[in-house]
Amino acid sequence: MKIVAAKKILRANEQLAAENRQQLDRAGVYCINLVGSPGSGKTTLLEALFSRIREMVRPAVIEGDLASQIDADRIEKLGIPVVQINTEGMCHLDATMIGAAAAGFNLGSVDLLAIENVGNLVCTANYDLGEHLRVVVLSVPEGDDKIAKYPPIFQRSDVLIISKYDLLPHFDFDASRVEADMRRLAPDAPVFRVSAKTGEGMDTLAGWFCERCRQGGRVVQH
Ligand code: MG
Ligand code: ZN
Repeated sequence: MKIVAAKKILRANEQLAAENRQQLDRAGVYCINLVGSPGSGKTTLLEALFSRIREMVRPAVIEGDLASQIDADRIEKLGIPVVQINTEGMCHLDATMIGAAAAGFNLGSVDLLAIENVGNLVCTANYDLGEHLRVVVLSVPEGDDKIAKYPPIFQRSDVLIISKYDLLPHFDFDASRVEADMRRLAPDAPVFRVSAKTGEGMDTLAGWFCERCRQGGRVVQH
């Protein structure tokens, strides 16, 4: 019985995600779903990205967290429209929450909507939010075995960003192993190595996002 219920929930979510995507398409908004572990550097990455692209594209952010406004406050400080979702214990965002949060923006003045998902490498993989691009962030301190241990989220992502790359000298992190693991699961997904702190790799990543925003569409066929 439990399995059937879970399947029903996922099917309903897929329907709502498709509606979200249609609404975003009509408004000309490109949407990314940023997933990764807690502390992988998702918010810091968004800050570094927006400082480079906001002259070209108008961003907005949906922040997903169990509790607190901490990340939303950081984005708000940049003068970027932001809606915080507190899931009150739920470990992922779903399409219903995104539909409600999107109503908090004037979508006509948004080009890029970034959703920062709850930090979680497991069930975020199962919930389409209506995004165009799923971006998975893996930080150097988390270790180079995460793709092997949590394959679904990586398989269902369009882009892999290896973050905190400035910390590489301090960890036994084999970036080529990570790239090889990713290639096996998602052969078309580009991999970026970046440090939001030092700026390494950020201009290349920012340029890629701008181009993707212009072209629309997904990188990986799911
Ligand atoms: Mg965050
Ligand atoms: Zn969950």
